[in-house]
Amino acid sequence: MVNKTQPKPNAKRIPRADVRFGAAVVARDIAEQKRAADLVIANKELVFQNKEKEKRAAELVIANKELAFQNNEKEKRAAELVIANKELAFQAKLEQSLSYAQGILGTMREPLLVLDKELRIKTANEAFYMMFAITEKDTEGALIYELKNRRWDTPRLREALEKILPQKSSFHDLEITFDFPGLGSKIMLFNGRRLIQSEVGEELILLAMQDITEQTLLQKRNDSFMSMASHELKTPVTTIKTLVQILQKQYEKSDDKTLVGYLMRMGQQIDQLTKLVTDLLDVSKIKADKFELEEKTFDFDPLALELVTSCQFLSLDHTIVLRGKTNEKVCGDRNAIGRVFTNIIVNAIKYAPSADEIIVTLSHTKRDVCVSIQDFGIGIAQGHIDKIFQRFFQVDNESGQNFSGLGIGLYITQAIVTQHKGRIWVESREGQGSTFIFTFPIAV
Ligand code: ADP
Repeated sequence: MVNKTQPKPNAKRIPRADVRFGAAVVARDIAEQKRAADLVIANKELVFQNKEKEKRAAELVIANKELAFQNNEKEKRAAELVIANKELAFQAKLEQSLSYAQGILGTMREPLLVLDKELRIKTANEAFYMMFAITEKDTEGALIYELKNRRWDTPRLREALEKILPQKSSFHDLEITFDFPGLGSKIMLFNGRRLIQSEVGEELILLAMQDITEQTLLQKRNDSFMSMASHELKTPVTTIKTLVQILQKQYEKSDDKTLVGYLMRMGQQIDQLTKLVTDLLDVSKIKADKFELEEKTFDFDPLALELVTSCQFLSLDHTIVLRGKTNEKVCGDRNAIGRVFTNIIVNAIKYAPSADEIIVTLSHTKRDVCVSIQDFGIGIAQGHIDKIFQRFFQVDNESGQNFSGLGIGLYITQAIVTQHKGRIWVESREGQGSTFIFTFPIAV
């Protein structure tokens, strides 16, 4: 057995200091190795922690993306909600407008149709079904021309719907007479209008109608009564006028001044009556397109002077001033053109009771002679200006002033002017007076 502690006999003894140094070196090596090992571990730990951090960062990125995505989704849903809300509001509005429109259609007394652009009936109102004794089933979806065994298929309605509407987008007061089986003859007045439903871009046609059968018949009866009455009146009035003229001639030199005075006043009244009867007869002739005029060429200015002079006798309160001249000739009915002057000057006197001047001005262009007659009277409200040339139209005077007349003077005046291919219009301001202007073509 070898004793480990006993050195071998020929072994070299290592000095104690060296041993100590060696031990120290070994210890240092061990310590360094340990530190290195620790460092490796620490490094590994660091790498591990770094990886963990990166993992967490990557997770964070993913979580962020998720959040962004969710946010996006929320925004999308919010936008969808806004759109849905708008749609709902629009729907509500649409329903409101629809019930509003249906309410109006339902309560209207005039029949009304809504057509699509193919002229098929989309809707009709209750008044339509009632008037034409037709059902909703036979009406909706049908072509307008197919209604009532094609009685609606008339050239005039076709022209209005197929030609006028596409060009003008509306037409007014189109009068058509239909012969409906079971309903008899009906005179209808049509108003049509093209509509675009902007939300859906659909083109619709609104066709409103009015049954004017009764009104037209009444009007015809009135016209024929007026024509007959004025014819009947004409003969006795002419006879009385002739008799008064004979009497006036006979008693012209009589000493009985009262009698002479009476006869003169009778003559004036008969003249007024004759004018009234002539005017009424002329209205009937104009209506029946039988108003005939002479055609002669004459100097215009002497006629103007003649009429201004004779009208001056009608009023002591007004001075009628004549200005300008034309030096032109006109071809037409001298008497009728004279009536245009008289009618307008008589009105200027009548509707300007407090004024003292009426100005008649003559002028001309290359083509026309032109006359303006200005008064400083009550004037005409803008809303009435277009109507005063209509038959029997008279402005209602709110001032309470009463003006005599029948409302036919300007109707006849306009007919005379237009029949001569002239023009007539009025410029007026309520309370400040009126200026009537008319033209006639110069004779060639
Ligand atoms: P009337 O017999 O009523 O005068 P007219 O046809 O001559 O008929 O005129 C129609 C209407 O036009 C009159 O009732 C009046 O209201 C209006 N009018 C015509 N001339 C004038 C005028 N110079 N000034 C104001 N209003 C006028």
